[in-house]
Amino acid sequence: MKILKFGGTSVGSAASIRNVKKIITSQPGAKLLVVSAMSGVTNRLVELSRAVKNDQKENVAAIIQELQVKHFGLIDELIDDASANDEVRSGISAQLEILKADCNEIWDQYLDARILTTGESLLSFIFSSYLKEQNVGNTLLDARDFMHISNLENPDTGYVGELLNDIMKASEVNDIFITQGFVRLDENLKVSTLKRGGSDYTATILGAAIRASEIQIWTDISGLHNNDPRFVENTHAVAQLSFEEAAELAYFGAKILHPQTISPVIGKNIPVYLKNTFTPDAQGTCISALAERKGLKAISAKDDITAIKIKSNRMLMAHGFLKKIFEVFDKYETAIDMITTSEIAISLTIDNIRNLDHIVTDLEQYGEISIDYSHSIICVVGEGLIEEKNTSRLFEILQDVPVRMISYGGSNNNISLLVDTRHKVEVLQKLNEKLFQRNLVNSL
Ligand code: ASP
Ligand code: MG
Repeated sequence: MKILKFGGTSVGSAASIRNVKKIITSQPGAKLLVVSAMSGVTNRLVELSRAVKNDQKENVAAIIQELQVKHFGLIDELIDDASANDEVRSGISAQLEILKADCNEIWDQYLDARILTTGESLLSFIFSSYLKEQNVGNTLLDARDFMHISNLENPDTGYVGELLNDIMKASEVNDIFITQGFVRLDENLKVSTLKRGGSDYTATILGAAIRASEIQIWTDISGLHNNDPRFVENTHAVAQLSFEEAAELAYFGAKILHPQTISPVIGKNIPVYLKNTFTPDAQGTCISALAERKGLKAISAKDDITAIKIKSNRMLMAHGFLKKIFEVFDKYETAIDMITTSEIAISLTIDNIRNLDHIVTDLEQYGEISIDYSHSIICVVGEGLIEEKNTSRLFEILQDVPVRMISYGGSNNNISLLVDTRHKVEVLQKLNEKLFQRNLVNSL
């Protein structure tokens, strides 16, 4: 069984959905399809949830009406047959009635999650109905029946697999299954999400759960690029990446993948292909256990990073000191991304500043604290990178821009730089010049 995940733009219009049908039917074998909401819909649902929270009834009604028009429009473009069209429209109306009723309840995080995940329910129903209409038999599965995930960071894919396998076995049509990305049930068996962009994560959790032969993630970009195409010219898709390389890149900002996407399949040896729905013949990126070649592969950047410096001339290097510092972050459930130390100071970075005030108060007992906001981590990735001679050119960047921190040697395949976000684009461009264009010249 293969998993094929289609993102918002891939299912964002009737034309894209017809494209997706071609992709599905051109591939032999059993498949489980994971779909997102139509592009733009989840953003509107976020606004809907906010309107409910703020009791803006008119706004609530207007957004639901708009969602109905959008989805009815899609149905009309996809399904000509009048009675089939009616049937799908009433299915969507019924779902929107439930949404409307929900919106009269008191807002809490669970209502928020129910609202936000509606886009996936609507689209998957239309998509499944359209395929059936086109004589592509399929079974629509409700992800809430098996995406029981109490631990978001470390999902129990074995348990999900047990639930899903039972459901699949009992299904009549068992070569094409369709389900919703993004949604999950939490430890209280209540509807929750995998966070924004989480459908990729759904795909790899399900891939690990049923030991899929491969996972394909279909988006509107031809694979993971060697640098950020929004800021750097002449980037290209990287054909092959190891799981570790891809995990570093996804975590440190490569927008194409949700940061946790890779973790469920590491160690399970299930290849993940990143493909473009609009140019399906383009090679894209294959992420697998083998690192095809050593050396530099790609650069990505993650914004909204906050650096915290703790300066203390008394006890910094004393035994047990770092533990105490880390315990503060642990207490406030805040992950640390980068760390550097010197004899009298330690600097570290976080991307979640929700509890920053508490963290600073607790840290003040250990030394003088200073905070730098609006920084970016530039992450340079490639298997065996730090053994490469050419990599040293990276440090030439220090002549041109102030670098706040460098992390070198944490793993063989990653070097990270922390810079003020004002310098990000310059750093990305210069690194591209120094590392990739140099590589090109060397290999000619
Ligand atoms: N529809 C959700 C979002 O926009 C999940 C996803 O697309 O992956 O965040
Ligand atoms: Mg996405």
